[in-house]
Amino acid sequence: MSAATSLDGSDTDIALDGGGGPGCAWTEAVCTAAPTHFLTLPVPGGESSTALLCRRHWLASLAYRIEVTMEVHPVAFDDLVLDYGEL
Ligand SMILES: [Zn+2]
Repeated sequence: MSAATSLDGSDTDIALDGGGGPGCAWTEAVCTAAPTHFLTLPVPGGESSTALLCRRHWLASLAYRIEVTMEVHPVAFDDLVLDYGEL
């Protein structure tokens, strides 16, 4: 499933998670690395949110959903992550 978010680089097409700065949107600690990947997640109400992350935190975010969330809650990966990839 693909989110309706476009990634054409304009400053109006992506709502950044974690404060909206130009860096990685990782929220567990400050990360000043440049975003290289995106992760689109569902939010309540049927919409989605796209975070721009550095490679390290993108992998950590995906791993958390696979290793923790999917182990605790019986849910399909496609229901947890709508879209993901390299910018
Ligand atoms: Zn990061």
